[in-house]
Amino acid sequence: MCASTPEVSRSNNHRAVRRVLIFTLAANLLVAVGKLAWGYHANIVSMQADGFHSFFDALSNVIGLIALGMATLPPDREHPYGHQKLEVAASMAIGMMILLGLLEVGRGVWAAATGAASPQVSPAAFGVIGVAIATSFVISWYEKRAAKRYDSMILASDAAHTFSDALAGIAVLIGLVLVRQGIPSGDIFAALAVMLFIGMTAYRVLRDGMIVLVDAALLDADAIREVVCTHPEVRSCHYVRSRGMPGSVHLDLHVTVDPDMKMEQAGEVLLEIKARLHARFSELEDVLIQLEPHHPVHYEDVPDNLV
Ligand SMILES: [Zn+2]
Ligand SMILES: [Zn+2]
Repeated sequence: MCASTPEVSRSNNHRAVRRVLIFTLAANLLVAVGKLAWGYHANIVSMQADGFHSFFDALSNVIGLIALGMATLPPDREHPYGHQKLEVAASMAIGMMILLGLLEVGRGVWAAATGAASPQVSPAAFGVIGVAIATSFVISWYEKRAAKRYDSMILASDAAHTFSDALAGIAVLIGLVLVRQGIPSGDIFAALAVMLFIGMTAYRVLRDGMIVLVDAALLDADAIREVVCTHPEVRSCHYVRSRGMPGSVHLDLHVTVDPDMKMEQAGEVLLEIKARLHARFSELEDVLIQLEPHHPVHYEDVPDNLV
């Protein structure tokens, strides 16, 4: 029963983070529409590219929302390890969509570079990109503040990303200035810079998914061993493996105790070790410990580098 208080504040946090993400998504979509509309109207290819960029950012906000939704779904019979990996499926799908979008943007840039049409840079174009840059700065600041208040990893990483979006906007702005100075290729170079930013979004989204898919180790085995060995009854600890997702880690390990120890006491030791691990690593979702009688020689078939 004593667990109810943190649960309540946790779901409150979820709701608040959700609100911030939805607001960010809406802002990204608005900015995307503005940049795409004006980019096509005035034939400014870098602004078109940046419009797609904002649209892809809105897509990556969708992953954040899915992740939040999954985090509140409890495990069930069909999904006893929880539902967090649905977020990975969404990440991979959206990452691939962004890559395809990048190809599409690249085709547009190529067409502009080889075509005859030249960008129409009016004061309104500066207005559109100026508002977009300001929006990115404000949202980034807003997300960063919310990330601190609600202790949210999703918001913190999105805040950093939104800040980089302002830089992409500044690249477009520089391109516009160059065009005004009589260098029409400035627009193309700015578009190439924006493509780099899109590539970074795709990389980030796909990398986060890959970390989970390849079961990358998420906790330092030595740090785990150190905590386990603080228990006076533990003789040794080996074969420490962690996997899962940041914030939701599954850990398994082998622990040896005195061969003459009674089962009853061994059970106590096991629970105490788990409690120590959970206290030290808040991201632990589940800990599986194989208790073994301590022998001088280890007979098991454990990979040498993991013993
Ligand atoms: Zn971006
Ligand atoms: Zn073992």
